[in-house]
Amino acid sequence: MKIGALEAGGTKMVLAVYDLDMNELDRVTMPTEAPEITVPAMKAFFDGHNIDALGVGSFGPLDPNPASPTYGYITSTPKLKWRNYPLLPKLLEGRAIPAAIDTDVNAAVIAEMELGAARGCENAVYMTIGTGIGGGVAVHGKTVHGLLHPEAGHIPLRPHPLDPNPRGVCPYHESCLEGLAAGPAIGARVGGDAGQLPDDHPTFEIEAWYLAQMCMNLTLTLSPEKIILGGGVMNRSCLFPMVRQMTLDLLGGYVQVDRIIHHMDEYIVPPKLYPLSGLVGSFLLGRRALESARG
Ligand code: ZN
Repeated sequence: MKIGALEAGGTKMVLAVYDLDMNELDRVTMPTEAPEITVPAMKAFFDGHNIDALGVGSFGPLDPNPASPTYGYITSTPKLKWRNYPLLPKLLEGRAIPAAIDTDVNAAVIAEMELGAARGCENAVYMTIGTGIGGGVAVHGKTVHGLLHPEAGHIPLRPHPLDPNPRGVCPYHESCLEGLAAGPAIGARVGGDAGQLPDDHPTFEIEAWYLAQMCMNLTLTLSPEKIILGGGVMNRSCLFPMVRQMTLDLLGGYVQVDRIIHHMDEYIVPPKLYPLSGLVGSFLLGRRALESARG
């Protein structure tokens, strides 16, 4: 049995084929171009391996509801050529195999809960802080969908008093998380590439404060057992101790839970599977789809 896994990103697609025990049989990466170029290439890869099930963790927004007529469609993305695009149906054209799709971050939280940083947790959040910000949420082991799926990257935050760009760079919202704290926001704040800046540059204190507000909001609204912070921005590991301390400060002693009061370094954590969290989660989605089809 072969499981196909696709982590569909806004800039690249990562495709892999695994056996049921998650041994990787093949993996390729291709740039995300227009669907009429990229999708036939992806379909050819999976068809060539004659996969028995497919799991997809995708950028969104997307329709994750299996009962919906537009299940597996990318919906209102700013990437115009992918807007309202039937990603999962196109990948499955001519192949009647079990399949499942979820957001890339929901796939990542599944993977971290089953095999990574949140093993043993029933409730966890995975936030990716990169060129954008997205959040995957699992409650009692199941990812949260609801009317759409969580879009925690766009929650409003209080601007930092020393932020030279307090409106942020999100075209939709004033002072939202992604607009204030994703990679492009940091770049806009420092007027260029932040990658060369030293850890003690003041912009990282501003960044940590935004991420701490995010963690405070997640703690108060979702009560997760772990908050996992992944994505390129978090490669700057000096952010973790700052975010933990600022989250504690912002909570102001209100949440009296041992893990938060005494073990913050086990509460706000990096992913264990990074950078493969999303791909592994896609595999797990595919394997679960196969298992439920077999009954
Ligand atoms: Zn926004």
